[in-house]
Parts: sequence; structure tokens; C-alpha cells
Amino acid sequence: MLYSKKTKEEKLKSTYAIPILGSQASDEPIPQYTLNEAPLDPEIAYRLIKDDLIDEGNARQNLATFCQTYMEPEAVKIMAETLEKNAIDKSEYPQTADLENRCVNIIAELWNASEADDFIGTSTVGSSEACMLGGMALKFAWRNRAQEKGLKLHARKPNLVISSGFQVCWEKFCVYWDIEMRLVPLDENHMSLNLDTVLDYVDEYTIGVVAIMGITYTGKYDDVEGLDQLLEAYNQTHDLPVYIHVDAASGGMFAPFIEPDLKWDFRLKNVVSINTSGHKYGLVYPGVGWVVWKDKKYLPSELIFNVSYLGGSLPTMAINFSRSASQIIGQYYNFLRYGRIGYTCIHQKTRDVAVFIGAEIEKTELFEIYNDGNNIPIVCWKLKVDVNKQWSLYDLADRIRMNGWQVPAYPLPANLSQVIIQRVVVRQDLTMQMAIQFIKDFKQAIKELDSAHILIHGKATENQGASGFTH
Ligand SMILES: *Cc1c(COP(=O)(O)O)cnc(C)c1O
Repeated sequence: MLYSKKTKEEKLKSTYAIPILGSQASDEPIPQYTLNEAPLDPEIAYRLIKDDLIDEGNARQNLATFCQTYMEPEAVKIMAETLEKNAIDKSEYPQTADLENRCVNIIAELWNASEADDFIGTSTVGSSEACMLGGMALKFAWRNRAQEKGLKLHARKPNLVISSGFQVCWEKFCVYWDIEMRLVPLDENHMSLNLDTVLDYVDEYTIGVVAIMGITYTGKYDDVEGLDQLLEAYNQTHDLPVYIHVDAASGGMFAPFIEPDLKWDFRLKNVVSINTSGHKYGLVYPGVGWVVWKDKKYLPSELIFNVSYLGGSLPTMAINFSRSASQIIGQYYNFLRYGRIGYTCIHQKTRDVAVFIGAEIEKTELFEIYNDGNNIPIVCWKLKVDVNKQWSLYDLADRIRMNGWQVPAYPLPANLSQVIIQRVVVRQDLTMQMAIQFIKDFKQAIKELDSAHILIHGKATENQGASGFTH
């Protein structure tokens, strides 16, 4: 007999000699929702899991996310080599704790904290946790001030004022902490925080106003300087001052390099805290985030805990306890490796690519451009009403997916939810040549849709239930 199928027992006995793709494990479904009884060879387990993830698409072509999909091999190496370090264990890993502290200092400097400011900050897993901390500090500080002034604390819920272009983490914050979320609506003429009406939402129960540096949906920056002036005037005439937290998840590591003269940070008097995602334009793999308070006085002492550190004690305000420090080390690697000039070159290139894509899409004359790549490097557009196409942006998103590109279409937030837009987020790893290829594929997809005959839905503008992209 030339061929005989080995029994399971026979195969198991000789796994070392058997090629992975000839192994029993690769000849049967893998246990998915139950724990397997017998162990597998590590190479086989690695291969099976790697293959299980094969259909997730090519992350570099995912133009939907702000989260980094590329780091240099040396960064990956040092991150892999430091996975065991526990970010919270400052006495076991004092040097790692110092690297975190260096990052906080570098970031505070990028955000123009002045010599006179006694800033304080921490790493987090992402901006969501950083916003949570920023919001909690606003709430505690407000309560302390309100108590001092004799305000009836329980007469009403405290509130937070933010534009309706907020990221979902703020909704979570308000739910977790029982805070009324006061939304300043976006509209066609105000695609970022509306300064004409924002003060209508502010009162003595306002714990703070959140300004967004890079609205997730459209990429627009709120006018933080204008908001600061409004609140300065308000604070001059009211007992209970209202301060600003800036949610700079995407812009916080971008604007300082590309628009250093734009005032949105600690140069503004009423900006007391800022968060950013290290894994967005800080250029680190997920997840690392940062929050910095301009001065310790804006971070109520109830939120600072002391952990032992080399026989002494070190303040921590982190929300997480144990987690790997490798992302923090990756952040420090990038700062050291790229420096100011390196970050500027990368971001400038990224912006050039975004502006190129915006211009090319505009040239088709089919779309109205909402963001042309000039704030944070994202481009978003809607289909012009009068072009009379039989297809929608959802169809276009599907079609372009055939070339591997992920470019989602989704409705704008409340008040504008009838508007369907499509968005491209440009990251460092999208080169001009890749963008040229993308545009070629994009135009081809339009051509194919124009000549397609099958319609899968009645109305081309119908909202097919896609939700916003929030990362
Ligand atoms: C991405 C984003 C967040 C959440 O950040 P994570 O780092 O993903 O937790 C919060 N706010 C804004 C404006 C964002 O763009």
C-alpha cells in the first residue's frame, strides 16, 4: 500500500517529524470555545492562530482607523523584549517608571506648559481612560469649589458641555459618573464646537467644557482659543469659574509639530488638562494614552494615590493597575528616535498625502469635501446631491474593499445624521505612491459602479445601518 492514513495516536507520537501542514491539528477544526484537552506544539499553535486571523485584511490598507499600524522593527524589538515589565510596579522597575516620567515631561513641553506651571500627568491605555481621568478631575475640582461657595450640590446633576461630535468615551464618562451631558449641536455651518451658542449651555453646575482637537467624524479642530476667550469673560463675572479640558486624542501629537503657532494648549489660560492617544499620531501601537494637568492644583488630591518606590513613595493617578509597560517604552523609543524633526517630517508627509487625496477626490466633481486633510490628516466627503448616482457611498465603500482598501461610509452625529459621509484617515504608513494607487482604485470603483446594473437597495441614499467610526 502506497498511502495509509495514520491514526491520531500514531501522528501524536511523532509530531516532531511531521510538517505543520501535515499535522493532525491542521487536519481538523481547532477547539474554539472549549479548552482543548491535550497541548499542541508551540509552532503548530502559532501557525493555527496566525492562520485563523488571515481574513482580517491588510491593516496598512485600513484607512478607517487612527490607530497605528506600523512601527519600526527596533521599536517592535524593544517592546517585545519589555512585555513583562509592569507599568505600575515602580519599585521593581524604577527605570521604566522614569521613562514614563520623561514622556510626561516631553508631552507637557509639546503642549507648552510653562516653567512656572507645576504640571502632573500619567500614561493610560488610551484616550478613553485619559478622558475619564480628566473628566473626574473636573468633577472633583468643581465639587470642591461649589461646596466652598455654598452651592446646593444635590439640587441638580452636574453637567459637562461638549459638541455633539464627541467621541463615545465622553458618553461613558457621563454615564459612569452620573453627569448630564450637554451637547452643543453641530450643524452645516458649525462642523466643530459652535461658539455662538456654547455659553447658553454653561451654568454653575457645569464641571467643565470639553474642546475637541480633531473631531473624530470630520477631523475639524474646535476653536479652543475662541472658547478660552469666551470662558475668560464668563469667569470674570461669575463666582464659579468654568475650565476647559481638551480632548486632543488625535490632534495632541499632530498640531504641535505641524501648526506650532496654533494656540489650543496650556498657553491658553483656562485650559487645565489635555489628553492624547499615543497610539494615534504619537505613532505607537495600541494602547497607550496620556493625560496632563497644567498644574497640580487642577487635579484634586483625592485622585492622587501613593505607591512605594525605591523605599520612598511616588504619586500615581493612573486608572489602571497592572499592565505591561512596553507601550510606554515604545512611546519613549519614538520620542528618542524621531525627535522633533523626525515627527515633523513624518506628519508633514502624512498631511501632504491627505491633501493630495482630498484634491484628487474633489477633482472628480462628484463629492463635496468636508475636510480636505488640513487639520488632522483626514479627508471626508459626501456625495453631491445633484450628481444623480444610482449608487451610494456604502456601495462605493464595498466596491473599493475589493482592492483591499477599507474606507467606511457612515452618518454624521445627531442633528446631521441624514448626511452620509465617507472618510479616509491618513497615517504615517500610507506613502504618496500608495495614495496614488488608492486614487486609481477609487476612480475605477466609481466607473464600475456607474456601469453596474444590480441594485441591492431601493434608495441610493438610504442609511444602511452603519455606525460611526470612533477610533
Ligand atoms: C480616538 C478618540 C478617543 C478615544 O481614544 P482611544 O485612545 O481609542 O481610547 C477619544 N476622543 C477622541 C476625539 C478620539 O478621536
